[in-house]
Amino acid sequence: MTGMIILKVAVAAPVYAIFDYLPPAEYDPERLIPGVRLRVPFGRGERCGVLLQVSDESQLQTNRLKRVREVLDDNALFGAEDIALLCWAADYYRYPLGEVCAAALPARLRQGSAAQKQGVPGWRLTELGSAQDPALLMRAPRQVALLQLLLRHPEGLSRQDIDLHCGSSAQLLRKLEQRGWLEQIDIQAVPGMRNPPAVEAGPTLNQDQQSAVDRITHGLSRFGAYLLDGVTGSGKTEVYLELLKQVVALGGQALVLVPEIGLTPQLSQRLRRRLQVSVAVLHSGLAEGERELVWQRARLGQARVVIGTRSTVFVPLPDLGLILVDEEHDLSFKQQDGFRYSARDVAVVRAQRCNCPVVLGSATPSLESLKNALDGRYKHLRLPERAGGATQPAIDLLDIRSTQLEAGVSGMLKRLIEAELGAGNQVLLFLNRRGYAPILTCHDCGWLAQCQRCDARMTIHLSDGQLSCHHCGAQYPVQKCCPECGGTALRALGQGTERLEEMLRGHYPNVGLARIDRDATRRKGSLERLLEEIKQGKHSLLLGTQMLAKGHHFPNVTLVGILDVDQALFGADFRAAERMAQLIVQVAGRAGRADKPGRVLIQTRHPEHPLLQTLLRSGYAAFAGASLAERRLALLPPYTFQALLRAEAHRREPALAFLEQSAALAAGFKLDSLALWGPVSAPMERRAGRYRFQLLAQSDKRSVLQGFLAEWIPLIAAMKSARRVRWSVDVDPQEML
Ligand code: ADP
Ligand code: ZN
Ligand code: ZN
Repeated sequence: MTGMIILKVAVAAPVYAIFDYLPPAEYDPERLIPGVRLRVPFGRGERCGVLLQVSDESQLQTNRLKRVREVLDDNALFGAEDIALLCWAADYYRYPLGEVCAAALPARLRQGSAAQKQGVPGWRLTELGSAQDPALLMRAPRQVALLQLLLRHPEGLSRQDIDLHCGSSAQLLRKLEQRGWLEQIDIQAVPGMRNPPAVEAGPTLNQDQQSAVDRITHGLSRFGAYLLDGVTGSGKTEVYLELLKQVVALGGQALVLVPEIGLTPQLSQRLRRRLQVSVAVLHSGLAEGERELVWQRARLGQARVVIGTRSTVFVPLPDLGLILVDEEHDLSFKQQDGFRYSARDVAVVRAQRCNCPVVLGSATPSLESLKNALDGRYKHLRLPERAGGATQPAIDLLDIRSTQLEAGVSGMLKRLIEAELGAGNQVLLFLNRRGYAPILTCHDCGWLAQCQRCDARMTIHLSDGQLSCHHCGAQYPVQKCCPECGGTALRALGQGTERLEEMLRGHYPNVGLARIDRDATRRKGSLERLLEEIKQGKHSLLLGTQMLAKGHHFPNVTLVGILDVDQALFGADFRAAERMAQLIVQVAGRAGRADKPGRVLIQTRHPEHPLLQTLLRSGYAAFAGASLAERRLALLPPYTFQALLRAEAHRREPALAFLEQSAALAAGFKLDSLALWGPVSAPMERRAGRYRFQLLAQSDKRSVLQGFLAEWIPLIAAMKSARRVRWSVDVDPQEML
């Protein structure tokens, strides 16, 4: 059929198809533009969809097509570029396009609500407040800052803008409200924040920084991928700031991707102090209304710099001129469930499509990015020295074979800790396991506390007296007696951060101690508070999990102890060594400054391990070179490309049968450079009550793998056995799990 108006719609549903609809019975043709949302009949219900294209033909007979019920938007939410990127991502990651589009929308818009008309919570000065003289408040600097900010914005500011400028401010706001100086309002329009009067000047860039900036700005109006490979503290952020300044001055928008919510306040405050533009922050911790407002600001071009975690990579930005990916090696850029994509990789593709530069920054670049640099696809920019004269800490191994440990700490390390504490310095201890202890066992009969639903042990959490499974979230109180033999000789084996804290508090009761892990920072704002207290010098002992390894600088730390590397040295995942090396270098990089060089000690029972030796003697670059050589020989990524087909079910048989049938289908393709392994059970075969298996497809050519998946996945999706299991495809998987 031709000559009709046919709407091609990405409907939010788990199906690999684009659907054809007829326009509503009555409609304004001006509103049928690609990128608007539509309410469409679907099955027996209704769904929200995104209009992709207005066409005049359909494969189906038009009398079988249904009509769109409603056009939800007056203006397109996605531009043509945005739609093209979403289509690319759905295609590459083999995920239904409708769901990909839905994932790129703020939650309320995704559900088909009208774009928000009411405002977001904000504050403005009352008459009484406006009459205050900040000069009289000198002893309360935060009040002064807040007052000055609001004096410049008589129309009021949203909570986010205030927080961005003044730090976490809930208490402060309430206090001034009680005094009658402030009132709460709805911020309606999207005014954006006006420029602060004085912008802080940055340091003069050193030669390495300047030449990195020059090489990137040389090609600001075209695509180029740059690996900014700079040791921690080398001033990568200063390079970002200079690039942002230039791009914004040229009228471009910039997108800054960061791995963790915890890192956004610091960076966004630094940007706000230094750039004369409106900076918007997007992350999952925002309230829905606020998120939507920020998203709209970005889409309308009102926010010139947008900082966010991984999903921000899909936010529409009409004037995009630069993408920065900070800590590009970080695993958080990979979404591990649902729509499994790598925000870093999408960022590179997006930059390519928008013809703008993308900068991947890290002190410990991923092997993928290093290989791209070696191959000349990315330009390799190096910042080998710490900025401002600080030296890199020395890293040494501490052999703990046949040594007594107390809560995981050797006597040698303890003496060094005491020496540093005595000298008034800070000490950082790294233990990548939260909770009290990973094992509860019965001394009499050997019983172990296992999760009922996973092939995993329960971790003891003493703070709340619970045993908890870190894989499925199951929890129950720690028993008093053994459920096998009734004995009472239950023992906690192994160390977690709680136990380490208990030991340290026992030995050093007068020393301020801050524990930073997921449990200790669960409450909103508590991480910021702890970090602030550390900066103020309230704590001399800092201990924590990998949360401590990310982004924060602790210049007064002179000793870093890494307590447990050994399990990672022998991890089953071929990426375990890479991750361990990154972690060691990142933790080490948190310490020291010019007049207080740091020292790092790694406790190990395998001091001769080649990975540790290479890393310590020759540094991360040498380690990465050796690892790349190994990967090439072993035909592993980044020299090959993988996709993992996973299946899980309440019994083994359906999951295995599904994968076996999938493998049998694949055998029909007869592709030379494609290998299929499995099905095999997942490293943790049973999790949350389901049996899990996987099938790995691998090729040394990305295009061969992609071509294969394009044909194979639709066949799999159509199999009867697919309905009896939960299955998913993971393209470029980062963890085998
Ligand atoms: P990175 O992002 O690489 O970890 P930062 O940009 O945060 O490094 O810089 C680390 C520290 O060095 C910061 O305190 C920063 O102000 C300082 N710094 C960066 N560049 C310079 C420079 N050119 N001169 C002096 N100090 C600098
Ligand atoms: Zn027992
Ligand atoms: Zn479990």
